[in-house]
Amino acid sequence: MSQVIYLDGQFVTRGEAKVSVYDHGLLYGDGIFEGLRVYNGRIFKLEEHVERLYESAKAIMLAIPMTRQQMIEAHVETVRQNNLRDVYIRTIVTRGVGSLGIDPRSCARACVIIIVDTISLYPPEFYQEGIKVVTVATRRTAVDALSPRVKSLNYLGNVMAKIEVNRAGAFGGIMLNNEGYVTEGTADNIFVVKKGVLYTPPTHVGILQGITRDTIMELAMRDGYTVREQVMTRHDLFVADEIFFTGSGAEVIPVINVDGRSIGDGKPGAITWHFVNAYRTLVNTTGYPVF
Ligand code: PMP
Repeated sequence: MSQVIYLDGQFVTRGEAKVSVYDHGLLYGDGIFEGLRVYNGRIFKLEEHVERLYESAKAIMLAIPMTRQQMIEAHVETVRQNNLRDVYIRTIVTRGVGSLGIDPRSCARACVIIIVDTISLYPPEFYQEGIKVVTVATRRTAVDALSPRVKSLNYLGNVMAKIEVNRAGAFGGIMLNNEGYVTEGTADNIFVVKKGVLYTPPTHVGILQGITRDTIMELAMRDGYTVREQVMTRHDLFVADEIFFTGSGAEVIPVINVDGRSIGDGKPGAITWHFVNAYRTLVNTTGYPVF
């Protein structure tokens, strides 16, 4: 069965799914997106992703031409049409087609795209053994420039960071803000474990408020762990007992080395394993049913 893509209310094939070269999403990165996962026919945290999409839209004054409920239904129907039970969903809303100038008033209607695709997972050994990461020179966008809480189509800073990671021969990167405080990975949030307590940077340092991050904080509270949102420097990473990344794509992934410093004993730690497993259980037992 061939891939079906939602494009402005129509279900089209991948070959038919085209946008204009005058779309401001392409011309200016003027738009927003989401990345979701479907596990065993259930969309994980669908309402939360739709809520974040509408919050991103509100922040950039982008009118999404459908209600939240219609957006939820469009996601369910797109997954159903693809008839696959374990997939990745990429939702994109661009400012739409306009003139060549940046003024968004030339764009009559936002363009809504929902892509359902097979997920290319990290290799299993990344989860077993953990990953080596580096801090990068490219700074995370400042909250007073464009808040990273807006999941916007402007990911060029993250792309530059990823290029640095690749050139360093590492598998992940940690971005700092302009003050040198730890923000997040290139497309994942970060947690640090020290003396049994979990720490993660607060949103005001400049991070995407990840839905996996929120989920881990909820699981931590459920399971009796203390979680603190705390401003951290590289030093806090170097002396951490454990570190892990979280994201819809990566799920929970252990970090075992930062800038050449082994974290803990250089192997994924027990608390990290707890959350790898707790998250896997949750994604396999909850979610918005499609079929
Ligand atoms: N930070 C950034 C910059 C991201 O792009 C993402 C999404 N891949 C995340 C964090 C993780 O967010 P979520 O848990 O909602 O997928």
